Amino acid sequence: MRFEIVTIFPGFFSSIFENGILRRALAEGLIEVGIHDLRNFTHDRHRTVDDRPFGGGEGMVLKPQPLAEALASLGIEPKAQRAQAQSAPPQVVLLSAQGRPFTQALARELASLDRVVLLCGRYEGVDERINELYCDQELSIGDYVLSGGELAAAVVVDVIMRLVPGVLGNEASGEFESFGVADAEITTDSEGVPRSQHGAGGLLDYPHYTRPAEFGGLRAPEVLLNGDHLQIRRWRREQQLRKTLANRPDLLERATLSQEDRKLLESISEEDC
Ligand code: SAM
Repeated sequence: MRFEIVTIFPGFFSSIFENGILRRALAEGLIEVGIHDLRNFTHDRHRTVDDRPFGGGEGMVLKPQPLAEALASLGIEPKAQRAQAQSAPPQVVLLSAQGRPFTQALARELASLDRVVLLCGRYEGVDERINELYCDQELSIGDYVLSGGELAAAVVVDVIMRLVPGVLGNEASGEFESFGVADAEITTDSEGVPRSQHGAGGLLDYPHYTRPAEFGGLRAPEVLLNGDHLQIRRWRREQQLRKTLANRPDLLERATLSQEDRKLLESISEEDC
């Protein structure tokens, strides 16, 4: 899978792609990333990418012409022409605080594509005609305003690449993290145990502990130390329910819950009263 990032700050991404799983995924050729400096598509001495907004007001706006040329250099036509010309066109994404919320579900959709182009805004944003003419979607990484789309693009690449087959050591591990696939989509593991019993399944992940067993006056939960896998699964499921109820009760409405889960939730809620 290939990502193309269009930015006025190409240097921003160097440390991001030189560390951790991203670096390994790139080195192993599981993903490719092209960083494209928007200033290379300007034609004046000052390499100007922005201009004052029509209608007045604060700040500057990224001009449409360099963005259109950057996209053309990547072989990307305006949408109207693309529809006829290409059978599997790349997805062009505008990073924007006004976009649809970027979620794990959306990341799964994007991870199935061959090529995703990410346009990073700056200043007050991008001339809206670029959005209308070229962008398939506008994505926001959260309800706050960043100073540029670069951080958002890095987040989007990081989340998607973890879902590309082969990137995570254990192919299935992404499935069982917070926001993993809903229980209904999870079948059984190699031992025939329903994965929903130990996967995130639309809930938040359970808490994790490692050695030492005693730290800062706190002992890791005894159940995790005793090696009883059935008890461990049950404890983890209960912790998922507790965490989700405490931090993201909205997720419970969409999660597929068993009778046992519902009973547990009731007793957790009663405890809190
Ligand atoms: N005037 C814009 C508004 O109020 O929505 C904010 C522009 S912001 C200062 C500059 C750029 O940062 C945006 O064009 C966008 O690319 C990026 N950005 C800011 N917040 C974002 C968010 N929550 N998600 C994704 N991109 C964001």
